[in-house]
Amino acid sequence: MIEEVLPNLFRIEIPLPDSPLKSLNSYLIKAADRNLIIDTGLNRKECFRAMKAGLQELDVDLEKTDFFITHLHADHFGLVSKLITDTSKIYFNRPDAEIVKAWKGWEPMIHYAGVNGFPENELEAAIHSHPGFKYSPERIPELSIIENGEMIKVGDYLLKCVETPGHTKGHTCLYEFAKKILISGDHILNDITPNIQCWSDQENPLMNYLTSLDKVYNFEVDLVLPGHRRLFRNYRERVDELKQHHKKRIDEALSILSDGSKTAFQVASEMTWDIKYKSWKYFPAAQKWFATGEAIAHLRYLEEKGMIFRGTEAHMTTYKA
Ligand SMILES: [Zn+2]
Repeated sequence: MIEEVLPNLFRIEIPLPDSPLKSLNSYLIKAADRNLIIDTGLNRKECFRAMKAGLQELDVDLEKTDFFITHLHADHFGLVSKLITDTSKIYFNRPDAEIVKAWKGWEPMIHYAGVNGFPENELEAAIHSHPGFKYSPERIPELSIIENGEMIKVGDYLLKCVETPGHTKGHTCLYEFAKKILISGDHILNDITPNIQCWSDQENPLMNYLTSLDKVYNFEVDLVLPGHRRLFRNYRERVDELKQHHKKRIDEALSILSDGSKTAFQVASEMTWDIKYKSWKYFPAAQKWFATGEAIAHLRYLEEKGMIFRGTEAHMTTYKA
């Protein structure tokens, strides 16, 4: 499905089969010299087919096309290596590039999940159904690192790179000041809440995320072009809702700890999730994995604020209020 959002700016809908996200919004800006594609979809044939069909319909020459990837997740980055040509640049932020380059497999995350109470017998299923495990690029192509504040000019679009850490360490939005549009990646979504996960005791992604919401709050934005689902206009109202959402989640995590110390996995199992399964017990392993990562993000936030404390029980990290 293709939609012309603004003159020479198109949305190509890329299906994400089996994912609660449903699809990815890939954006194409056409220009006389070089085009720009923003985010690409997973490295799987359903995504590749939809992208190819869209590009064909819009008469796009990939020999004259560059790429901008908002963040390292496979649904945005996975397909890019299948689309590049010898002349393509892939604009990518530095913090995520460092993670991608230093990547040595899933072992540290698996270990960390176990320490946080994730049951050992479900770890394998969780990892093997993780989209990042199945649909990442086979090889990492050469990346053109962009810095916060850098400008990318495509036709009459002048895009400012705005680093918005939280969803990932280096997540970057594109802001078009004159046209008042924000290409928001997974920083600000309308129909769903961006997933904020933490997989290291050295990180505090929720704090970063809330700071990044404040960072963009005063931008003049008429239209938001998000990474998933519908485009929307009620920009500041949505940012306020997202802040409110996390405030409620932080309070919920705190109240779950009111009756004793628990692992992040236990906290996750008691949090409310907007998902079609009847109860935690029926969640697929991959959803439990995401939920646990999100619970850890909220617990790390509370810990850094000095509102909860960690302990160790049976070689596992526990938290108590
Ligand atoms: Zn995404």
